[in-house]
Amino acid sequence: MKKTSILLCLVMLLSLCGCGGTADKKTKEFFAMDTYMTLTAYGDNAEKALSEAQSEVERLDSLLNAEDKHSEIYRLNCEKKLTLSEETSQVLKKALDFSELTDGVFNPALHPLMKLWGFTTKDYTVPSAEEIKNTLKLCDVKNVALNGQNAVIKKDGTELDLGGIAKGYTSSRLIEILKKNGIESGLVNLGGNVQTLGKKPDGSDFTVAIESPEKDGGYLGMLKTSGKAVITSGGYERFFEKNGKTYHHIMNPETGYPAESGLASVTIVSKDGTLADALSTLLYVMGEKKAVEFWNQSSEDFDIILFTKDNKLIVSGGIADSFTSEYNIEVIKKD
Ligand code: AMP
Ligand code: MG
Repeated sequence: MKKTSILLCLVMLLSLCGCGGTADKKTKEFFAMDTYMTLTAYGDNAEKALSEAQSEVERLDSLLNAEDKHSEIYRLNCEKKLTLSEETSQVLKKALDFSELTDGVFNPALHPLMKLWGFTTKDYTVPSAEEIKNTLKLCDVKNVALNGQNAVIKKDGTELDLGGIAKGYTSSRLIEILKKNGIESGLVNLGGNVQTLGKKPDGSDFTVAIESPEKDGGYLGMLKTSGKAVITSGGYERFFEKNGKTYHHIMNPETGYPAESGLASVTIVSKDGTLADALSTLLYVMGEKKAVEFWNQSSEDFDIILFTKDNKLIVSGGIADSFTSEYNIEVIKKD
């Protein structure tokens, strides 16, 4: 059984525990965006809400997935000039803003690099230093211009990849779809990236298991939460091995190699799923020191769970009382 599937079952089981409410619970499971998804909703209209939510996943995938030949991002990558839908242009705008904010640590233009390493086809390879150097020249966000809905890729070979932000945007949209259908309580789990709507019908918080990069099938800890996204990035999520070395899918755009920042995983807890997704990726690349600094200085409202490769677990004050783990927890507070 895949690690993500075990985690999905765990989250489902946990979300069942202690639910003494009479509300009608419905669950939908499917495979999309290259991951297992489980959507749960409570209430009379749950079945319809979940069907609409599943269609929404498919709709967003067909806008944002750089590997889907019909998506807007795929077409922009090929055609170099495209008037995007308002929605795609807004997600791209956010990705470009995160890139600017972090001096390129978050980089939505590194599709050429993902292709070079074989992450787009699963035909993995370790490129030569020369190939990496040449490919990095294509991965410059300055080669992308977005003016309202009009997008232009100014350099041949530059291509966009919204993989670091798309699932978080999707989970936020799914919560909106559930709400629109009158649902007040639910949980969407996109391969371990979770967003909750309200509290459980009995009024208690949801319990979300955070996957452990360390113990196979185990978990790092449990977070009690409601109305928030809980999104994790880690090198253990997608990787390959070559000559005894592990290469994963989160890139350091400065070196062109998988980020080796000393972090094993980063979890972001926030009301905003899109923000949480972008931040989990970029704080992972930054490493512990810069990630803590970024969190400390940010005006955005979010909490962090950082797990280092030497098993140090750092949790921000806002969620420290709601998080339990077998590891020692170092709680950090804002200056
Ligand atoms: P996540 O699992 O959210 O951390 O996103 C990982 C995905 O984001 C990868 O599969 C790539 O598609 C993309 N990605 C990898 N490195 C970066 C980066 N430095 N900035 C933005 N997106 C990235
Ligand atoms: Mg991300």
